Amino acid sequence: MTRPNMHYADLKDSYLFRRIAQKTTAYERVHPNTHLYRMGIGDVSLPLCGAVIQALHEAVDDQADVRRFQGYMPECGAPFLREAIAAHYGSRGVALDANEVFVSSGASDELGDILDLFDAASSAMVVEPAYPAYVDANVMAGRHIVHVPTCEEDGFLPQPSDATRADVLYLCSPNNPTGAVFSRAQLQEWVDFANQCESIILFDAAYEAFIEDDELPHSIFELDGARTCAIEICSLSKTAGFTGTRLGYTIIPKELERCGMSLNDMWVRNRTTKTNGVSYIIQRGAAAVFTPEGQHQIHEGIAVYKRNAKVLMRALDEADVWYCGGRNAPYLWLRCPNGMGSWELFDRMLEEIQVVGTPGEGFGSCGEGYFRLSTFGNPQDTIEAAKRLCKKSVFR
Ligand code: PLP
Repeated sequence: MTRPNMHYADLKDSYLFRRIAQKTTAYERVHPNTHLYRMGIGDVSLPLCGAVIQALHEAVDDQADVRRFQGYMPECGAPFLREAIAAHYGSRGVALDANEVFVSSGASDELGDILDLFDAASSAMVVEPAYPAYVDANVMAGRHIVHVPTCEEDGFLPQPSDATRADVLYLCSPNNPTGAVFSRAQLQEWVDFANQCESIILFDAAYEAFIEDDELPHSIFELDGARTCAIEICSLSKTAGFTGTRLGYTIIPKELERCGMSLNDMWVRNRTTKTNGVSYIIQRGAAAVFTPEGQHQIHEGIAVYKRNAKVLMRALDEADVWYCGGRNAPYLWLRCPNGMGSWELFDRMLEEIQVVGTPGEGFGSCGEGYFRLSTFGNPQDTIEAAKRLCKKSVFR
């Protein structure tokens, strides 16, 4: 008999979003004409910007012209896009060779696939509350997971210690779901720790474009020593609205070696075996993000979400609810008042003010008692949701 990968049996049921969907569907069935204010999902509401749309159209036309038609793309990414991304890092003071940039179909895909680089017996540290894919990808691979809980007292940003030792260290900054962002000094401690332990940091920078404070690092490669201990995984999903269009990129420095093996070379070998590259059309659209026009336009979109964040933050202030995030990240992480459970707050919000959020428990057990609101909704809905949040009754 063919034995399946039995580690799948160890996965916890991903009931969070299913349970949210069940509850909202049940509510809608009973209240068919009631509009719900969906502040739960991490999906964007704005369309792609003009520069990207134009580039996508031009690329489609290329595919109709025998002289400009593109077949298979290079597996690690089109040189025009790898160079554009490297130049973008360069403009922020991080020197990269274009061959250190790998184009992907998105951060989620990479966060799972990249585990191919590590020995099956290696362990992974996950800071919780966490984006669920870190834990699940490692459970599927049967790896030992070191769960590191965080809390309000440490600002949801742990310090390295004996309790955080593992072969692979997941760090996400700005963080989903807490919105916490590592300072330069805090991130430097992790880089020094990883170099000392010969661990590798997988730095998830999917939300770096939301950082407003100049002193906060956008990339781990702004820190001394990161080139010998870190891989950065990034995405255009939230930066430029590519959640449905799909494009991400991964940075693996040439200096990153373990046991005499270059992880950059290994990833080239992996990609050239396991992919045939990302679509030419999508890569052309992505390259437009890194033009001056594209940068201007995507930041106009991000400004819309930041206005949403301010609207929600004012409402929570008025309702006298403790929260963090929202300033350098597109999520607000609030404490459910009076010891309320996160599902209890979910039910109250749904029933009383028709606002749908995400119970914190879905991001790991230390998320219980907290609740995530997303700022990616459309502005009209966000304004109305904020008005409703000001009604303190749901927080009593
Ligand atoms: N990393 C984090 C922290 C995320 O929150 C998400 C998506 O919500 C991703 C990665 C996945 O991004 P992508 O759409 O590029 O797969």
